[in-house]
Amino acid sequence: MAALPRGLRSPEGVPDSRGLNLFDADPSYRGLLALNLEAKLCAHLLPHFVELGRMAGAELDEFALEADKNPPILQQQHIEKHASYQKLEEVAFGTYGLAAMSHRGGVLGWPEPLPPAAKYALTYLYVQAEFGVCCPLSMTDALTRTIRKFADPALVARYLPGLTSQDMDALTQGAMFMTEQQAGSDVGFISTKAIKQGEQWALYGDKWFCSNADAGLALVLARPEGAPAGTGGLSLFLLPRTLPDGSANRYRIQRLKEKLGTRAMPSGEIKLEGALAWLVGDPQQGFKQMADMINMSRLSNGMRAAGLMRRALTESLFVARNREAFGKKLIELPLMRRQLLKLMLPAEAARSILFFISGDLAKADQGDESARRRVRILTPLIKFRACRDARKVTGDAMEVRGGVGYTEEWSDPRLLRDAHLGSIWEGTSNIVALDVLRAIRRENCLEALLPELNARIARSSPAMPRLLAGRLAASLDKAAEFAHEVASTRNETHARQAATGLYYACAAALLADEGTNIGERGDARRQLLAFLVYVHRLAPRDPLRRVATGYEAELADALLPETPLAPDVVERILTRLA
Ligand SMILES: Cc1cc2nc3c(=O)[nH]c(=O)nc-3n(C[C@H](O)[C@H](O)[C@H](O)COP(=O)(O)OP(=O)(O)OC[C@H]3O[C@@H](n4cnc5c(N)ncnc54)[C@H](O)[C@@H]3O)c2cc1C
Repeated sequence: MAALPRGLRSPEGVPDSRGLNLFDADPSYRGLLALNLEAKLCAHLLPHFVELGRMAGAELDEFALEADKNPPILQQQHIEKHASYQKLEEVAFGTYGLAAMSHRGGVLGWPEPLPPAAKYALTYLYVQAEFGVCCPLSMTDALTRTIRKFADPALVARYLPGLTSQDMDALTQGAMFMTEQQAGSDVGFISTKAIKQGEQWALYGDKWFCSNADAGLALVLARPEGAPAGTGGLSLFLLPRTLPDGSANRYRIQRLKEKLGTRAMPSGEIKLEGALAWLVGDPQQGFKQMADMINMSRLSNGMRAAGLMRRALTESLFVARNREAFGKKLIELPLMRRQLLKLMLPAEAARSILFFISGDLAKADQGDESARRRVRILTPLIKFRACRDARKVTGDAMEVRGGVGYTEEWSDPRLLRDAHLGSIWEGTSNIVALDVLRAIRRENCLEALLPELNARIARSSPAMPRLLAGRLAASLDKAAEFAHEVASTRNETHARQAATGLYYACAAALLADEGTNIGERGDARRQLLAFLVYVHRLAPRDPLRRVATGYEAELADALLPETPLAPDVVERILTRLA
């Protein structure tokens, strides 16, 4: 594909980051992979990371720019997607098997299903080029997981090969049709009816937001005739686009939405006109079963937000290192250095939390109850905070590029538009912040989270000044106490504040631990990042007081080159700062 024209440029002019390998441009990532993937698997996957990083900075980015400018078109009941979007799908579903890798062996040459950490780590790199495709990708993966857990085995056997295929002609993609005009956050108002018809059910109703609208299979929430009102009366159904006899199922895509972001991925309105579907699992547990898919999608959204922030940071660092103003590279200017650190902080916090959840998800799926409870609370936490942070980070990165950052020749506006969606779908910020409180109140999730994080702070303490380890532990206590109080008093007004505090207290503990643990395999910079999180997000601050220590300059010197730092260097800096 020919590169999109990007206007006239001189070598001294606008720095052109096109072609940057997004994996190599993120040197800390290797250390994190080594820490979070088993050594043999990590070595096996490394060449795939390098190649995906190369593609993400080159052709995938070009495809994404082009697909974004050429949204899908609804023709009769067929959705025409641009060739560039199809290429993006091929790489995600086909070449990298990102939707299949949790469900079967053989993807990327690995005989077993890949662990969640590997899936999220690869998708985190992919999303740095393309966000829209990650929605169908995640829904296909999550739908497969949910039907494997709850559906009739014969139904699973029928559809599993298509759902986990890497052959684009054989692939069946997934979707979820839940939202109705009167029932978005308040799912209990769903009015789609289900009427028993032999072995199947006929669905009647209007679904208002259906992403990946032409997917081969969708999980749908509907109310069987005679079932009570509210979420308790909802059942879960598997809706095929094509019936087993090859005929089209009875539903119509009414129109496609014109959206701010994910412009290339079709989101539509669907009218169910007696569409035939299979009941999934227990008819009284429809919403609870659907929550499994929703939570996987929320986690995926947190991962995507982390990826968007990393892309924004990579672009900003590149621009700052190459663009000159007032006789200096931007990265030499003190105020710009501070701005870059402010992009780095949430980007790094999000991926530490992401890897932590990924590890726990693997344990939870093997029956570890504490890990399950940690995943339960951390999922809405990352969905809430990382998605909100991504809005700001992508906007601020756009400003680092200056005027051209605002033009559609670069990835910046697309990243910003996509980032805003992360906070809205799969539960808005308010809804997921309230869900954090529910996880505390109903499932005592703090009890599972705190000992694990305290153990990590204790483990990393010897390598940090005592004062800092003490402050991290105290912040964690304080954040947990506040969240517990807000949850138990049902103080909804402060749900977001409580969730933010808890998120950053967790992130600081994890960063400190990673900084100690990565050791010779990576770098100890993450302890400095823990300090940064503490100062900017957890410590009391007077906005009118001048910062006397000058610590930010030291932190910028140590962190902005993104080159590994030896533990003794970090320790020296931290001792001075703390
Ligand atoms: C591009 C896009 C794609 C989508 N794709 C899908 C899809 O594939 N499948 C699907 O089922 N849905 C999909 N959705 C729908 C999406 O999940 C909903 O829009 C979202 O859950 C919010 O519901 P709503 O639009 O009805 O807003 P509402 O529920 O009406 O919310 C409006 C506002 O009220 C706030 N609010 C609601 N309840 C509370 C509360 N208790 N306390 C405080 N504030 C509250 C919300 O935070 C929000 O700010 C998609 C949406 C978009 C934008």
